[in-house]
Parts: sequence; C-alpha cells; structure tokens
Amino acid sequence: MATSLFEQINQEQKRRFHKHLGVFSWFLFLSFAGLILFLPFDRSEKIHLTILLVISILYSAILYFGLIPSLDKKPFFFNLTVGFSTLLIGWAHYILGPYHLHVDKLYAVNIICISVLGSWKSVVPITLLSIGINYFVNTSLVDFRSTQYIIIQAVDVMSLSIVGLISGLLGRTLHHFNLITTRKNRSLSMLVEANRITNINQDLNVLLPELAKNIAQGLPATSCRITLLDPSKKNLRDYGMHPLRNLSEMDPQLEDKCSLDHLPFHKRAINNRSISIVNLEEKQGALNDKERDILFFRNVKTICIVPIRKGGDVMGLLSIGEARSWEREPFPPRKLELLKSLANQTASTIHTTQLRQDLENQANRLAVVYDVGKVISKTIEIDDLLELIHEQLTRVIPSDAYFVALYLPQENALNLRMLIDNGKHYPPRKVPADQGLSSWVIENQESLLIKDLAEEASSLPIEPVVVGEDKITPSWLGVPMITEDEVIGILAVACYQAYAYDESDQYLLEQIAQQAALSIKNARHHMEVERQASLDSLTGVLNHGHFIEALHQASQLAKREKTSLSLIMLDIDHFKGYNDTYGHVIGDQVLKLTVEAIEKHVKSTDSVGRWGGEEFGIALPDANIHQAELVAQRIRKTLTSLPLSDSQGNPIPKPTVSQGIATLPVHSQDIDELIKIADRALYRAKGKGRDQYRIADAPSP
Ligand code: GH3
Ligand code: MG
Ligand code: MG
Repeated sequence: MATSLFEQINQEQKRRFHKHLGVFSWFLFLSFAGLILFLPFDRSEKIHLTILLVISILYSAILYFGLIPSLDKKPFFFNLTVGFSTLLIGWAHYILGPYHLHVDKLYAVNIICISVLGSWKSVVPITLLSIGINYFVNTSLVDFRSTQYIIIQAVDVMSLSIVGLISGLLGRTLHHFNLITTRKNRSLSMLVEANRITNINQDLNVLLPELAKNIAQGLPATSCRITLLDPSKKNLRDYGMHPLRNLSEMDPQLEDKCSLDHLPFHKRAINNRSISIVNLEEKQGALNDKERDILFFRNVKTICIVPIRKGGDVMGLLSIGEARSWEREPFPPRKLELLKSLANQTASTIHTTQLRQDLENQANRLAVVYDVGKVISKTIEIDDLLELIHEQLTRVIPSDAYFVALYLPQENALNLRMLIDNGKHYPPRKVPADQGLSSWVIENQESLLIKDLAEEASSLPIEPVVVGEDKITPSWLGVPMITEDEVIGILAVACYQAYAYDESDQYLLEQIAQQAALSIKNARHHMEVERQASLDSLTGVLNHGHFIEALHQASQLAKREKTSLSLIMLDIDHFKGYNDTYGHVIGDQVLKLTVEAIEKHVKSTDSVGRWGGEEFGIALPDANIHQAELVAQRIRKTLTSLPLSDSQGNPIPKPTVSQGIATLPVHSQDIDELIKIADRALYRAKGKGRDQYRIADAPSP
C-alpha cells in the first residue's frame, strides 16, 4: 500500500507544514475580506460572502488545531475535510462566478493539493465531486451564461482537474523517489556507520551498545537492544538498550544475565531462528510481564526480534521496539531487510571480535606457558613454585578458587599445599585422597572439566567435597600433575559462575600441570640430594657441619623467642673395644643402634648430629636443664636393652655412654661456648667413671 505524504513526514515537517498553512489561511482571509469590502456586490451576496468567510475561518481553525494533527491517522476525516473544502469552493464559485473571478480554478488547486498530500483513494472522488459541483454551479448561473459557456467551463475544469492529477502524480512520484533515495542513503549510512563502529572498537561491551544506538537512530525505531547468548545458550546477556528519545526513566535495565526461561518470546525467536514480529496491542499475552518490563518501553506497541546468526548458529538477538501501531506497518519489508543485513553484520562483527579475542587469548596462553616454564625451571622451592604458577594462571584463566594438592601415596592423602578461595589463602592441610573430585582426577590420572555443576551433578563420577569457602563453584577444572612414573598431585581452578572454563582452558592447565609436575619432581629430588648431603652416611643423623649449622639456627631462634636451648654431648664408652673384639662391622652396628636409641627420645624439632667418631651431639630447643636431664636418663636406660649380638649370634655387652649437658642461656649466651661447656661436662662424666651424665657447672658470677 502506497503511504501518503502525511504518513511519511515526521513531526518537524508537520510543524512547518502547519505554520505555512496558517500563513496561507490568513492570506485567503484577508483576500476574501478585501473582495467583500471593495467589489460592488449586492447586499445578499455580501451576506453570503461574509457567512462563507466565517465558515471558512472556523473550518480552517478546526482543520488547523484539531483535524490536521490526526488527519494522517484517520483517512475518513481526511476525505471528509477535502470534500467539505470542495463544497466551500463551490459556494465561493457560486457567489463570485458572475464577477468573472476564476474561482473555478480553485477546484484544480484543491485536487493538486489532495493528490500530493493524500492518497489516490481521495483524489478520484474529489475530482468527480469538483466536476459535479462545478457543473451544478455553472448550470445555476445559466441565466448569466450560454450553454456553450457551461460546456467550455466544464471542459476547462476537467482539463484543470487532469492538470491537477498529473501535477499531483508528478509531485508524488518525485516525492516517492526522493523518499526512496533518502531511505537508501539512510540505510547505506547506517551500514557504513555500523562498519565504522565495528572497525574502531574491539570490545563487544563498547561496540554493541554503539551498534544498538546506530540502529535505533538510523532505522529509526523507538528502541533497540542487543543481547547475546552466553556459552550455556540458556541465558541472554544484555549489551544495553538504546532508546531513540531520551526516556531514561523508562529505560529498563536487564540483569547482566537473564535466563531464557523468563523470556519465552525471545526463546521462541531463538529456537525458530527467524524474525518474529508481535503486535502487543492485540496479543497482550505474547510477552509475559517480565519480558515486557525488562525489554520494552511502555509505549512500545509492536516488537520485532531478529536473530543474530552465523550459519545455523544463533549468537544473540536484536530486539527492536516500535511505538507505531500495527496498522501503520511499523516493520515493512524494507525495514526487515535492513534489519537482517544489520543482524548479519553484527554476527560477523561478533565472530571477528571473538576470533580476535581467541587469538589474543591463545597468544597470552602461549606466553603464560612459556613464562611458567621459564620461572619454574629457576625455582626449586615447591611453595614458591606453586605461588608463581598461580600468578601466571590468573593472567589467562580468571578463577575464584585455585588449589594445588600433592599426593601422598603412603598415607593415601592429599596435601593441600595451596588453597586460595575468594581471595582468601588457607593454610596447608591434609585431606583423604579417596573423596571429592580431586581424588577422581588422581585415581584416573585424567582431567575433569565441569562446566555447570547443577547441570552435570547427576552424571558426575564422584560426589564433590567443599574444601575452601562453604560455597558451590559451578565451574570446576582439575588436571592431574603426572610424570612418566608417578602421580605428583592435582592442579585445580574453580569459579562461582557456570561455564567459566572450556576445553582450551583444560588444555592450557594440562600443559602447565605437566611442567609443574616435572618441576615439583625436580624440586623434591633436589631437596633429597641436599638432605642426603647433610646427613652422616652411616647413622643417618646430621653430619658435623650441618649439625653445627642446625645448632646456630636453634640458638638464634632461642634468643629471638627468649626460650632455652639445651645441648647434650654424648660419647660411647670404650667403643674401641667393640672394634677390637668384634670387628668394625659390629662396631658400626653399635653406632647405628646407639643412634636409634637416641632418636627414640627426641622430638621432630630436635636435632641429632655426629660430632665425630663415636661422639654425638643432641640439640633440644625449648628444653631446660631438667628436661635435657630426662632425655639423657632415658637414652641411658634404652641402651641397656639394645639387641646386640656378634656374627655368630652370641650376645655381646651393651654399650654405655657418657653425656655432658649444657643449656643456653643458663651456662652461656654463646653457642660455640656452650659446645665447649657441654664437652667439658662430658669429659667430667668420663673422668668420673663413664656410663653417666653430668650437667655443666653453673657459670661463676
Ligand atoms: P672412651 O671411653 O675414652 O671414649 O674410649 P673409646 O675407646 O670410646 O675412645 P677412642 O677415642 O679411644 O676410640 C674411638 C674409636 O672409635 C677409634 C676409632 O677406630 C673408632 N671409630 C671411629 N669411627 C668409627 C666408625 O665409623 N666405625 C667404627 N667401627 N669405629 C669407629
Ligand atoms: Mg668413646
Ligand atoms: Mg670418643
């Protein structure tokens, strides 16, 4: 259906039109008044003309203030109005005809106006009406005119009507072409603008609201909102609505994510993958209240939802709201075509942006793998290493929780070496290795990726166990740290949002876990070598150098903490005799068993060292003289029950030991001095007959 000019012109044009009509009416009014005053009419003609003038003024006023603003909406009023205008022209024609005033030309002017402003449906009846009235008036004036004159007049009006029709047609055609060109230009500039927006922005959060604005303004439409499906394809993420006019108080903000279950109409548009248009005035129930409240203005009467598709895949939706009612065809085919093009362009933009983001992510990931490799090869402290991996991982896999657990096969436990949840660091602790998702990862030596716990709960291989915050993490990704021959542990990340991780995150974490596993193994190996180097090879206690080092550290700690540190120096009595009587192998055996007897009575924080030959030192941090004395007594007692026999299995005498005890800070503040004092006490014990302990003398005041 061809639309009339009235329907096409916008508010601004309408205002201008009304102004011109006002000026024109005043011009007509003054001209008529002049005619009535100055032409030699008789009395009854003057009365007629005055009534005509008053009616015309009233009519113009009604037209101007009441009818014109809504004429375009009511075609019946339009026809009535122009019909009445024709009647008024006929009346003027009747009065002024005899004075050779060519009022009949006004019929043609009227027809031209109607054919430009109105629709064809109005032009034909008004032309016929004009010819009829013209004929009727001319026949009424027959006493003035010859029949011939009437015929000439009729032909004159008909030809004028034809001229009117043709000029109207021309005017309309020109206007139509102008309109098409303007629309094309507008569509083109919209597409160009959309292209510009997509080229200068790389962030969808900036780009999509700009595109929505461009669409709302360029189409134009009352509102435009762009929403994209999230990875779960169950929620729409809002990228902002753009209202055409400033109706901010009516701009409803969609939650960051809105479930499709609350948006049935949008859900249908996604499932059908086609444009849907709904007349809200007619189909009140088409949208539920929530969908209406969050997506459209109150004055929106028609909505159009266009899927943003790449191939068969729906990425999101363009939701266009229109205040125009259904009758005024708010979404004609040309608009839909344009919307389709815009949706396609938006799809390409999103696709390109996502590709670019993927590439950037990929590059970042490679850099992280490289950096992790670089830093962890330089780190031999396991905790430092785990902290470094965490630092690097946060660059590419944003997570709410991160944990690393080392597997302890002897205890069938997991040592939670690092646990950060919601920004909070938890102290290391051991958890059983047969519970929770981690145990599954360790047992199967396979990664486990949970995209949405709620959705996958029923198909999970094992029940999850909460380790950090008492909060469910819908996204969970755990990968085993394995080397060729052993399971080192597990590296896991978790997120409070569903669908936070995908297969590419799993791949990245697996690569990092592999490097971490090797590094942890190396670090352990290094620690073992160091430990071995610090130990005495025969007895397994600290060697002389490391024992002195341990003593120095213990004394520093004791001074700092203001606690005591006791030292026992211990020497096996007549040890040479064992060597001489039973051989060195038995001698060695005596040494080992003596050390075992000592170690039975010391705590894990105490240190035992081989001072040299068959002499040992025992450092007892936080132990006073009395507690050291108790240790010495117990060692002596244990030695009496040592299981000792010669190579033939015959029992041999149990060794005895002499011990000297000194305590820091009682006997000295200086650890080197304390060693000497304890040694002196030991030799006093030897001197007093061996098999006893001596406490160092109290220092002289
Ligand atoms: P005392 O009661 O005065 O301490 O007498 P002793 O025989 O224990 O002392 P001495 O220093 O005379 O002898 C220590 C001997 O310990 C000398 C050395 O051959 C022996 N010895 C030192 N280291 C080892 C060792 O690693 N294995 C064995 N089998 N003997 C060792
Ligand atoms: Mg000895
Ligand atoms: Mg000795």
